[in-house]
Amino acid sequence: LFAGEVDFLKGVVAMDGLPPDDRAEVCFAGRSNVGKSSLINALTGRKGLARASNTPGRTQEINYFTLATDHYLVDLPGYGFANAPVAVVEKWQRLLKNYLAGRASLRRAFVLIDFRHGVKKVDEEIMTLLDRSAVTFQVVLTKADKVKAKDHDKVLAQVRNVLAKHPAAYPEMVLTSSEKGEGIATLRTIIAGLK
Ligand code: GDP
Repeated sequence: LFAGEVDFLKGVVAMDGLPPDDRAEVCFAGRSNVGKSSLINALTGRKGLARASNTPGRTQEINYFTLATDHYLVDLPGYGFANAPVAVVEKWQRLLKNYLAGRASLRRAFVLIDFRHGVKKVDEEIMTLLDRSAVTFQVVLTKADKVKAKDHDKVLAQVRNVLAKHPAAYPEMVLTSSEKGEGIATLRTIIAGLK
């Protein structure tokens, strides 16, 4: 469905750099280190396609990929760097705000949450921004292989509690492990179904 037919299109640093909004797109957001690059690589079957940009001072780009399903897959820069320069954070927030509010072809945002940690304050800020932008978002729990089965319910309950407060939240979560491949096919099917 996806593998071998995905390509990096471009990195975008300003609104006028966005490609024409002539096809449905989905975006991926998450705290740095949540496992976003690993997930995109697992989804697309291309190791090294999405690179972890773990340098807070670096230019933060919105990375566009084209999928065989004729969607754009949009990799948003990781957020929540502890000591990123203020100017970088502000520039990024402005771009993010404009992108979410102004992108007519954006069908869904996937908000990645580390299954070990649950929803953090910065994640809630993104969720609030998505509410305000009227962008439906769905939580993808990452690194499921690192959480013991007996601890699942506790984290799931915390996430559900948070989602109940967000009108733009899609109620169903997707449990994934890029390491084990869990949930990857489910996520592909969800994306393919978004027209
Ligand atoms: P990003 O900063 O959000 O792009 O995060 P990365 O994809 O670079 O992952 C951050 C760290 O988590 C890396 O050390 C990955 O190997 C690890 N990681 C990512 N996904 C998984 C997973 O599903 N299971 C496990 N055990 N580790 C993962």
